[in-house]
Amino acid sequence: MFPIKEIRKDFPILSRKVHGKPLVYLDNGATSQTPIQVIDVIVDYYSNYNANIHRGVHNLSQEATDKYEEARHKIQNHFNAKHAHEIIMTSGTTESINLVAHGFASLLDKGDEIMVSALEHHSNIVPWQMLCEKTGAVLKVIHMNDEGELVLTEYSKLLSNKTKLVFVNHISNALGTINPIELIIEKAHQVGAAVLIDGAQACPHVKPDVQALNVDFYVASAHKMCGPTGVGMLYGKEAWLNKLPPYQGGGEMIADVTFEKTTYAGLPHKFEAGTPNICGGIAFGAAIDYLNAIGFDNIAAYEHELLEYATEKLMEIEGLKIYGTSKNKTSVISFNIEGIHPYDIGTILDKLGIAVRTGHHCAQPIMAYFKIPGTVRASFAFYNTKEEVDILVAGVKKAKMMLA
Ligand code: PMP
Repeated sequence: MFPIKEIRKDFPILSRKVHGKPLVYLDNGATSQTPIQVIDVIVDYYSNYNANIHRGVHNLSQEATDKYEEARHKIQNHFNAKHAHEIIMTSGTTESINLVAHGFASLLDKGDEIMVSALEHHSNIVPWQMLCEKTGAVLKVIHMNDEGELVLTEYSKLLSNKTKLVFVNHISNALGTINPIELIIEKAHQVGAAVLIDGAQACPHVKPDVQALNVDFYVASAHKMCGPTGVGMLYGKEAWLNKLPPYQGGGEMIADVTFEKTTYAGLPHKFEAGTPNICGGIAFGAAIDYLNAIGFDNIAAYEHELLEYATEKLMEIEGLKIYGTSKNKTSVISFNIEGIHPYDIGTILDKLGIAVRTGHHCAQPIMAYFKIPGTVRASFAFYNTKEEVDILVAGVKKAKMMLA
């Protein structure tokens, strides 16, 4: 049995009230909540060993450096990267993608092709459009079907020896679709293209093995994995990271600086200019420990139960339509009720203490496909319960009654 009662006790925020009602937090796709085990690590850092890392001889600096590098190793082990220096600490998924897009500016020629999917978050679209503007490369799009799945026959046809890079998300934030990334990676490699997988939505639910996937770049954010905001990671194969130029100039990323010439530090420091989010990085490591202690198989099985239960209950509401109906999906339900604006439903749910997201979810091309302004998105985590699903369903019924 999944120890849900014990797990909920780890999250202080889950016992607070909103508008006088117990909080029902179903906006985990936007950011996850933080367990006490991670909060304690943050408090410990600022209470006991807050110092800048890598350059201090004093004790505090050494302690902070050791803990920060220990966190890098935890991330390395979690994602099964071959080397710790293949893990670049960033401010999150968005920065990780921008880092790679910046680097590819020096590797692409006019007329080269790079490929995105129709299911992406804006942060996996816009940096590549900027790259195309800079280089004259052409952006191709893998389209999706009505279930919110990528059309793979089309993908195969779009690939050619002009394709240099393919970037898709592992799991869609707007619809919850789990993309067949193994196949996408394999096919891209057949034409010599590199692949970046945006794992922002996947990492709270699954444990990716970057070596088994043979992926070139994999990116994620700590704040969707029970860690703090403002920290994340980029995994890159050593050979690729050596090929890419530094992203930002500054302290930490250099070997030698003179006014005539600067030489750069080796991996991972070449990509880590300036003082990083030290506490955040250490807490990211603690969050990974926390999730692994529960176990990703347990998390996936429990969340699947919640998804099935919530889908069945919500479908009973007349006029409710769910977007993203792939059998391969994670615990995200995006829906609308005929004739009612999603924002209005979200506002009423909030008054009932229920936190959901409404809008385009930074995925406007998906909304354009379905010809809708946005959806209501309930995204479940392993600390949610069936009772909370019931509260959501009752809330949606109430909102429908008030607004229809
Ligand atoms: N990609 C996906 C699929 C996401 O869901 C998000 C966050 N909503 C991002 C990228 C961006 O992540 P961050 O804001 O943490 O950089």
